[in-house]
Amino acid sequence: MEIEGNTNVASQRFGAGSVEAFGPQLGRFVVATMDVPWELTRDRLGGQPAAVVAVESMEVDVLERQLATLPDCDTIVGIGGGQAIDLAKYFAWRKGRRLVSIPTILSVDAFVTPAAGVRRNHQVEYVGEASPDPLVIDYDLLRTAPADLNIAGVGDLLSIHTASYDWCLAENAGRSEYPFSQQAVDGARKILADVMAQAAEVRSCSDAGLQAIVDGYMRLNTICLPRKHYRVEEGSEHYLFYELEERLGRPFIHGYIVGLGIYLMSRLQENAPDEITAFMDEVGLRYQPVDMQIRRDDLVSSLKNLRSFVELRPHLWHTVINERTITPGWIERTLEDLQF
Ligand SMILES: [Zn+2]
Repeated sequence: MEIEGNTNVASQRFGAGSVEAFGPQLGRFVVATMDVPWELTRDRLGGQPAAVVAVESMEVDVLERQLATLPDCDTIVGIGGGQAIDLAKYFAWRKGRRLVSIPTILSVDAFVTPAAGVRRNHQVEYVGEASPDPLVIDYDLLRTAPADLNIAGVGDLLSIHTASYDWCLAENAGRSEYPFSQQAVDGARKILADVMAQAAEVRSCSDAGLQAIVDGYMRLNTICLPRKHYRVEEGSEHYLFYELEERLGRPFIHGYIVGLGIYLMSRLQENAPDEITAFMDEVGLRYQPVDMQIRRDDLVSSLKNLRSFVELRPHLWHTVINERTITPGWIERTLEDLQF
């Protein structure tokens, strides 16, 4: 697919087997990765990296300590999921080197976003700027990952459903933090419609399904990067996840937890919840609390606390959470069909 505008992907190397024998073309390179993805990729990639650095933690002081030990190189190659790619982005940005991104699962959009998601004192921060040159999408390599994790990659595209609605709500309430753009909302909804049209392909992780997820993210960047915010795809569904992550003090598979957020917040919004839920089921996205070991009383407490959670964090955008009161009765009804 030809995509107009800034996708934050400087060049592409897409196709089954596209990682094969790419290493020897990379000059002197450092790999940022984790054990499992590196084992899966090293022989396919070929070449001899100057160093292989594993993700230890995304805390900035750890990243800086690792950075200080890096040998000189031309290229930083990120191989793995979100954290490995973010580690590579951080190094490439700090050292001013070429970035090559080789996602081995599509579970998050880190491989196309410019900033690296890091932690400072356990709080998420997005820092720096790096564009993959190229982004390597090897369908065969991606299919070595559990299908559920690749399917989780649609989470941040499906969140357009609730997030764009939140932006419209904010605009109507005179509370939008950014100049509102109907064109941006329409463009995002088109991305959502196109990925929904590929449900069967996504479910089976076919070449077309995997590519649909990647294209969706690149198209989202053409909308979000010029505006410098991701309001069309980040809203109340993510805020529920922030609350749960802080409450339970453990990470989640991003697409799963965002899926749970979409399930709940589309109901709070009264925004075609059955339609988006049917799609999540059709595509096989795991969003049930039982899939994430979330207990019923924790989710109840989280929902009860959600408004004060967002109100205490003024940097969070205006969403349905500010507008509609979450009552015990609503929680009771809404959790009825979820699996714990
Ligand atoms: Zn997200």
